[in-house]
Amino acid sequence: MKIDSFNSFVRELYQSDKKIIPLHAPVFMGKEKEYLLETIDSTFVSSVGKYVDQAESLLSKYTGTSKAVALVNGTAAIQVSLRIAGVRSDDEVLTQALTFVATANAIKYNNANPVFVDVDLDTMGMSPKALEQFLEEFGEKREECVYNRKTGNRIAAVLPMHTFGFMCRITEIKAICDKWRIPLVEDAAEALGSMSNGQSAGSFGLLGAFSFNGNKIITAGGGGIIVSNNIELGEQAKYLTTTAKKPHPYEYFHDELGYNFRMPNINAALLFAQMEKLEEYRLAKAKVYERYHEFFNGTDSQMNLMPIPESTSQWNFWLMSIMLENQDKRDAFLKETNEQGVITRPIWQLLYRLPMYAHCQRDSQQNAEFLEERIVNIPSSAKFE
Ligand SMILES: *Cc1c(COP(=O)(O)O)cnc(C)c1O
Repeated sequence: MKIDSFNSFVRELYQSDKKIIPLHAPVFMGKEKEYLLETIDSTFVSSVGKYVDQAESLLSKYTGTSKAVALVNGTAAIQVSLRIAGVRSDDEVLTQALTFVATANAIKYNNANPVFVDVDLDTMGMSPKALEQFLEEFGEKREECVYNRKTGNRIAAVLPMHTFGFMCRITEIKAICDKWRIPLVEDAAEALGSMSNGQSAGSFGLLGAFSFNGNKIITAGGGGIIVSNNIELGEQAKYLTTTAKKPHPYEYFHDELGYNFRMPNINAALLFAQMEKLEEYRLAKAKVYERYHEFFNGTDSQMNLMPIPESTSQWNFWLMSIMLENQDKRDAFLKETNEQGVITRPIWQLLYRLPMYAHCQRDSQQNAEFLEERIVNIPSSAKFE
């Protein structure tokens, strides 16, 4: 395996003699500065302002949903989506172990527990087969709810994640959720701009959450959003994340325990400018993927670019990844690229390896463990000549 040739290919691709080629750097080529200056001049930098409204309406339009609510980050968006979907203390949420820690943390913040079902090898997202098998084995319908036969706890939601912007088999997962009448919430943090059968990530379940952290396809500095096709739930999300204050010209009355999770207008200004360029970023990243495709086709088959799975009718090309032959090859690749300033990263360690989630129930995890040993992300920033 010629890791050297990979390193020089990436340097040539990004035409960079900088010491470090980052994994994913934001690009600001729209009206970011204009909108930020305008926000400062207006003094509306904080909890109200037109950019929050504009970003929300653009995002609900873009995702084809009826309501979008802008928040401080993606983790809070998942946390609140789960709460609105009905997750309560001691409930369980079926999710995947092959994900960023925030997915499970958002469950725990609701005092609920994650249960890990396996992923598919091609999408790297939740496997509908594994989900169905788990429910057949452990699910017990009682009245309106489903309980876990092993733990006795209620299974209150299913939370799949669209890994690196690849869509998991969301239509099949939705059908299983409908059959069992378990609410579906999507962790679409990585998938803004991705679609399955022409339908946007985040719009399949009861609620969906996106992130605008600095490493995502577009950024608000920090931020997140909840989308829903149920206007009532969307309004509930707005209410809960803006301290649950009853509307009144001057009185402060809050009728439940809300959160201060709203996105500041200054972040929304940045987000709105980024949103206006989203499709350009996506197309520029498609070209980067095309170049990698040519490169890896020409090398031996010991490192393979992960192909776009058939579940994904449109990919946002967020983070590109390759599969190495085994863990030793993976480790050698990580070492030789990072030492040369070409930043690469292994896929996440499975969440049950972390002390907080070691005790959580899980199925075989055969595919998740296979991918954990082999998948590496490679530099994927949008590139403009
Ligand atoms: C980025 C990310 C999040 C969290 O988003 P933040 O905005 O960083 O809080 C959640 N889940 C996944 C899968 C992510 O990649």
